[in-house]
Amino acid sequence: MDNAGSPITLPLDREVIRMHNSHTYYGARLGVGHQRAMIDGNITADACIIGAGLAGLATALELARAGLDVVILEAAHVGFGASGRNGGFVGPAWSQRLDNLSQTVGEDHAAKLYRLSLEGVEIVSRNIKQLEIPQLELTRGKLSVARTPSRDAFLRRRDRLRNEFGQNVEVWDTEQVRAVLKTSRYFQALYYPDDFQINPLAYARGLAMTLEQMGGKIFERSRVKRIDRERNHLKLNTESGSVTTSQLVIATGGYTDGLIKGLQRSFIPISTYIMLTEARPELIGKAIATPFGIGDQRRAGDYYRLVDGGTRILWGGRITTRISEPRQLAKILHRTMSDTFPQLEALKVDYAWSGLMGYARHLMPQIRQIEKNVWSCTSFGGHGINTTAIGGTVLAEAILHKSDRLQMFKPFGLDWNGGPFGRAAVQATYWWMQARDKFAERMWFAADTGA
Ligand SMILES: Cc1cc2nc3c(=O)[nH]c(=O)nc-3n(C[C@H](O)[C@H](O)[C@H](O)COP(=O)(O)OP(=O)(O)OC[C@H]3O[C@@H](n4cnc5c(N)ncnc54)[C@H](O)[C@@H]3O)c2cc1C
Repeated sequence: MDNAGSPITLPLDREVIRMHNSHTYYGARLGVGHQRAMIDGNITADACIIGAGLAGLATALELARAGLDVVILEAAHVGFGASGRNGGFVGPAWSQRLDNLSQTVGEDHAAKLYRLSLEGVEIVSRNIKQLEIPQLELTRGKLSVARTPSRDAFLRRRDRLRNEFGQNVEVWDTEQVRAVLKTSRYFQALYYPDDFQINPLAYARGLAMTLEQMGGKIFERSRVKRIDRERNHLKLNTESGSVTTSQLVIATGGYTDGLIKGLQRSFIPISTYIMLTEARPELIGKAIATPFGIGDQRRAGDYYRLVDGGTRILWGGRITTRISEPRQLAKILHRTMSDTFPQLEALKVDYAWSGLMGYARHLMPQIRQIEKNVWSCTSFGGHGINTTAIGGTVLAEAILHKSDRLQMFKPFGLDWNGGPFGRAAVQATYWWMQARDKFAERMWFAADTGA
């Protein structure tokens, strides 16, 4: 891993910290980076993308590769949103599970979507290889661990993924898992050798640099406040300037505001949290002895991995519909970690942060045309690194009339999110799932120990 062992420090200016994700491990590790100008005056472009997260960057890159003159307008800076502050886990699948997709769109359609998600992983891998993005801190391999005995279910899943999708998957037994993850909370695991983990802010910045090298333009601190529809053009207005364009892509993720009627009402912004522990490799080694990324099988369960040369834990989990960051954030995550690994109770937290994900009710991204020459590429939920890559590709293909793969996303529309009732329902569903998971673990513990 690059930068292993070197200290990470926070810049002191609060505004710099907020704007540049410096309160996250990634921002602290990479520094403020290249700063871009605000837009000044009116410019024209073939296509304009709102949002410089992975969805906007992926779409812009594909359009620029086809020779279009592309501009991105970003309210904060490249990777400011979920894209620059996520867990960095890259693997196939969508936020909606394959089984649930099969029920809603049928087996064949669901399988095609799953293959697209695999293609998304390939796109990210190819970008990493070809673009030579620095400071990615790439690690390979992921263990998806069970908190109740799941051998038979795992064997079935392994067989399906291997036979139907040619995916490289193994089942680990409980002893093998506990040899590297020293907790009695875990049982079997699915091991995915081809999954990998990265510093997502470094990746987003790498894509942005590539786009600019190809002639694309990115303006930062340039929030789009109003869209004017003119004859055959759209004019996007910010405080300091405007872009006149013939194609507009909205890629504003969980930060989507009321710019486009209907879009804000069609998703729910969901907060999720990550913390970074202090560097204490000897203590950490008593709990976690693997460089693989770890995720547990619960919906919105824990995920974590060793970073900074294996000296710290980056630990994420929990979701809430409350958008403001809780003051006790570090404490909440620390409690979750020491519940799984009591031996890490003394491990202190250096950083904790939150990010917003966009979730539609169908849990699938909204990749579609929303009106003439206006497209959405939003709501990638908690599984966005691979899916934004394929989402941007498929959307660019539609704009360029190169394929009709966009049709695969037709069933996932802009249905109303249910307003405050929708939010309450999401929060209640999460609490219900948490309670159900805890109950299943307790029942198993009681049956196993006779308690
Ligand atoms: C804490 C956390 C952990 C996660 N972990 C993982 C993981 O390990 N693996 C994984 O695959 N996925 C993960 N995800 C999900 C993934 O990060 C997202 O799905 C993905 O980054 C979404 O990308 P995006 O480009 O759609 O949105 P974002 O990255 O949020 O970008 C949207 C951008 O739009 C800008 N914007 C909004 N409104 C305007 C406007 N009016 N004008 C101009 N700009 C505007 C915002 O400033 C923002 O930069 C995680 C998410 C979070 C929050």
